[in-house]
Amino acid sequence: MPDHDAAQKFVYDFTEGNKDLKDLLGGKGANLAEMTNLGLPVPPGFTITTEACKVYLDSGEEPGALRDEVSAHLDALERKMGKKLGQADDPLLVSVRSGAKFSMPGMMDTVLNIGLSDDSVNGLAAQSGDERFAWDSYRRLIQMFGDTVLGMDGEVFSEAMEQAKSLKGVTSDVDLDTADMQMLAEKFKHLVLKETGRDFPQDPREQMDLAVKAVFDSWNGERAKLYRRQERIPQDLGTAVNVCSMVFGNLGPDSGTGVAFTRDPATGQQGVYGDYLQNAQGEDVVAGIRNTVQLAELERLDKASYDQLMQIMETLETHYRDLCDIEFTIESGKLWMLQTRVGKRTAAAAFRIATQLVDQGLIDEAEALQRVNGNQLAQLMFPRFDSNGGVRDADEIGWGIAASPGAAVGKAVFDSYTAIKWSRSGEKVILIRRETNPDDLDGMLAAEGILTSRGGKTSHAAVVARGMGKTCVCGAEELEVDTKRRCLKTPGGQVIEEGDVVSIDGSTGKVYAGEVPVVPSPVVEYFEGRMHAGADDADELVKAVHRIMAYADRVRRLRVRANADNAEDGARARRFGAQGIGLCRTEHMFLGERRSLVERLILAESEEERHEALEGLLPLQQGDFTELLESMDGLPVTVRLLDPPLHEFLPDITELSVRVALAESRRDANENDLRLLQAVHRLHEQNPMLGLRGVRLGLVVPGLFTMQVRAIAEAAAERKAGGGDPRAEIMIPLVGTVQELEIVREEAEAVIAEVEERHEVELNLTLGTMIELPRAALTAGQIAECADFFSFGTNDLTQTVWAFSRDDVEASFFTAYLEKGIFGVSPFETIDREGVGELVRLAVEKGRATRPDLKLGICGEHGGDPDSVHFFHEVGLDYVSCSPFRIPVARLEAGRAAAAD
Ligand code: PEP
Ligand code: MG
Repeated sequence: MPDHDAAQKFVYDFTEGNKDLKDLLGGKGANLAEMTNLGLPVPPGFTITTEACKVYLDSGEEPGALRDEVSAHLDALERKMGKKLGQADDPLLVSVRSGAKFSMPGMMDTVLNIGLSDDSVNGLAAQSGDERFAWDSYRRLIQMFGDTVLGMDGEVFSEAMEQAKSLKGVTSDVDLDTADMQMLAEKFKHLVLKETGRDFPQDPREQMDLAVKAVFDSWNGERAKLYRRQERIPQDLGTAVNVCSMVFGNLGPDSGTGVAFTRDPATGQQGVYGDYLQNAQGEDVVAGIRNTVQLAELERLDKASYDQLMQIMETLETHYRDLCDIEFTIESGKLWMLQTRVGKRTAAAAFRIATQLVDQGLIDEAEALQRVNGNQLAQLMFPRFDSNGGVRDADEIGWGIAASPGAAVGKAVFDSYTAIKWSRSGEKVILIRRETNPDDLDGMLAAEGILTSRGGKTSHAAVVARGMGKTCVCGAEELEVDTKRRCLKTPGGQVIEEGDVVSIDGSTGKVYAGEVPVVPSPVVEYFEGRMHAGADDADELVKAVHRIMAYADRVRRLRVRANADNAEDGARARRFGAQGIGLCRTEHMFLGERRSLVERLILAESEEERHEALEGLLPLQQGDFTELLESMDGLPVTVRLLDPPLHEFLPDITELSVRVALAESRRDANENDLRLLQAVHRLHEQNPMLGLRGVRLGLVVPGLFTMQVRAIAEAAAERKAGGGDPRAEIMIPLVGTVQELEIVREEAEAVIAEVEERHEVELNLTLGTMIELPRAALTAGQIAECADFFSFGTNDLTQTVWAFSRDDVEASFFTAYLEKGIFGVSPFETIDREGVGELVRLAVEKGRATRPDLKLGICGEHGGDPDSVHFFHEVGLDYVSCSPFRIPVARLEAGRAAAAD
């Protein structure tokens, strides 16, 4: 027998719990208790705790005390209801439902109508006056019990049901009468015996106990385990089990069932939102057997229940201080609340509701910040289809999983080759595949958006599209993709041929035939300064975003900078709220027409040739820096010296070899090409990411880094002379040891001193390093002796800590890793706290121990990722730096992190 505290309580009546006991009672149980305590009409019942589940899962046996405790609670329930579980002439029936701390939709089990048996089915018929209803309920119990408790294949029941219908020549369940249901119940029992070798249990208590165990077991179902791994829900929480007296919405026209929201989950507007289905049970609503009516219609059908429901909704909203969603049933004119929880909402509604609740005095600003998040803000920043007319008039042909947000319009193509070919000739295309694989990468890149008929949120298409920032809808299963015939068929028989225009909405998952007009995001218009939140006619959403951003800016401790390489990006970043540039990658300044100068540098055979090449680059670089410093006047600008291996600036090895070979065959060899080819071979590396790049390059190519330092110093001097306030910071990449930095620093200081002297100006340039190698993090104490600042390069740090090639792995095997739940999100997207993050934490400690005033930032992609921003706040960095479009997200998350402290 497992060892547990004999005094431990494993069962709570709904009257005993409350909403804060989610760990113990699960979300559903805690909220049922809360509603019960609020005096709302909840069908009586009790909750078996997650602790009981944990004991069962650990030991394979239920806690010894559980049976007696359940008996005591069942007794009490029976007394309250005035009837016994499964009582032959008037049975108490119960539902047994799972309910974990975190909602795991569809992952775990539920059994309804427990207590029905060959005897009590007649009692239920007599009591309800509806024989068909009683037999239908009984066959549903056997079906659900067989499927979830006895582990049978649910198909056998559906097949029997289909047979019964075709025998009778009808297509809908509702056309089956009492005799049919009776026959089905017999047939189902027979199937149970045949498939499991045991009779369907007639003892109601045995039914209940087995169902409770099945719910416990469902915690460890394969789907549930995978879901938890992906969602990072701990595997050891266990589920609670709710045993609740059944109420029936299918007892006639004065019964029914519905769902409701206390305000519109799409816009946040207050009002009456929901659906109602007369004379029906919960499953019928989901199954879509009949059309629901709008909740407002209930006022006409049953005014008393409607008024009571409105009252309850108000109570709940004031009590939970948030939008609630509700499931209710009306049984013969009596309203029952079956569930409530804080409801899911769209991104736009989240912002609007948060500010509405502040205005209503229900929450404060700090709380409002917790009610929204950066992912929602990012969603609001994508262009979207025009909801004023455009989408409404569009021809919706299907929907799938909203895998990567945005709105994309283009001609349908069914293979990557065509996608590339058409896009090269200026066409916009949507790549449509059953599923994608690494061979589709170029096609995906060429397309406006991607649509697949298979796969979920972690499918290859979804992962890669999100990484590329491309709109993607995946798993649109009802659409048949025929890649051979190059067409797409809808269930209604419509055919989309190659070249037909389609529109896909990666935020809703909807797919449309034809072109749907796209409008820019009003939130981006606002950040760009083209829409003012203060204007009378400003969008409600923009007003809400403006207010929330103001709260975030007021409380955040982290500063937010931009990764920007040119004045245009710098200016945009500033409009979006950047407080400087955290990373200017100088490599783009070596491309285009300037590439020939780099070639000359690489090919230089004498000091003089090298000097000439560098002198050619200097004014160009200086011009770039002057503009950049101007765009961020008065704010820090971190310029990183050249990082990538030099061969990236040379022609492709294969193309050049072919060119040289052809020229040779024509006896027309070009001397320069030959030298270039030699250089390409000389510089070729098997693992260039681990090769001659970053500071290593600066140390072995004489004059390269000093030229860049000079350009920065000259640009700063120029800005100063023009009355500007340049604040340049020079950053050295890929440092692994302090010695590397010492040499570069010494050279750089000499150049800066010389420029300062010549211009008779003090430039206050600082010199720091990236921390992007494990060795740099481990020796950060020494490195800090020689650095004014650190900026964590978490892209390279992730690459080198995991030995994951950042250019390859996401598209090759990350899908498999995500599907296996090894991680729920790519470590290149969200910082791996336990691994990469530990090194960051260590380097912060060591760096600050050496130099308390060391400035600390991060400029890897993680700087704009919500979860990672919280981590950087926690470890005490001074700023995060991210791409201009992510700046609002980083500002918001930095505010949320500070408000949660
Ligand atoms: C990094 O490695 O995190 C970084 C910002 O540098 P890059 O991405 O240019 O290598
Ligand atoms: Mg790097």
